[in-house]
Amino acid sequence: MSNDPCRHWLSRFRIVLVEPSHPGNIGAAARAMKTMGFSELVLVRPKQFPSAVATERASSADDILQRALVVDDVEHAIADCHWIIGTSARSRSLEPEQHSPRTLASALSHDYAKGRVALVFGRENNGLTNHELELCHAHLTIPTNPEYSSLNLAMAVQVVCYELRQWALECTDKEWQPKRPKPVSSEEMQCFYAHLESVLIQIGFLDPEKPRRLMPRLRLLFGRAAPDKVEMNILRGMLTAVEKQLKRDRGGS
Ligand code: SAH
Repeated sequence: MSNDPCRHWLSRFRIVLVEPSHPGNIGAAARAMKTMGFSELVLVRPKQFPSAVATERASSADDILQRALVVDDVEHAIADCHWIIGTSARSRSLEPEQHSPRTLASALSHDYAKGRVALVFGRENNGLTNHELELCHAHLTIPTNPEYSSLNLAMAVQVVCYELRQWALECTDKEWQPKRPKPVSSEEMQCFYAHLESVLIQIGFLDPEKPRRLMPRLRLLFGRAAPDKVEMNILRGMLTAVEKQLKRDRGGS
């Protein structure tokens, strides 16, 4: 069972490599995927697979290679997916929605982008065919130096997966926010301020005849800190311990 907090968000993605000719790229793509938390790889007519070179380049991501599905055409690779993204180093004419990895990540919250997503990568020598690009709902180009825009296949996989992982991390943070301990209520804060004021007077730090602006300043300070219930219990516990010690001191004197 994976401990990756992004697993839930990334399990809907499939990486499709179309006719990769270098087995090393397949292995490097698997490694790129696994480091970013992706696990589903589909290969369309790979020139050489399985391959010792691919396994070596995958390093500890060879489990992805072992589970990889090999199919005969892109149609089969994407058959059960709902949103298909074709990647290309050049933006082409007649294209549908155009994305960078970052804008793709923000589009994922739209209803039409829900469900299983296939990210389709092309051949090392000549990318995806026009027919394959037409099967896609959106096209993705990694913004690069316009004078030299073609990344190595596995590196393109790495960049896209990296950006999607950043998106997943943000989703995970948002998802966990409601579970974070809530700040205490205003009533509990007022009780704390009264307790604090009383203790500060008892220890001679606050002169009730000349209070100056000590309590309003402390209110601002603790208000900014927005303590949660556990932290408030610690603060109240500290004040109570001071009071107990004062009592002992008085009793002893
Ligand atoms: N000469 C090919 C480039 C092939 S590179 C072409 O012009 O399309 C192999 C694959 O890596 C591409 O098909 C694409 O899937 C991916 N790739 C390389 N550079 C990319 C970029 N800048 N943006 C998006 N994908 C890219």
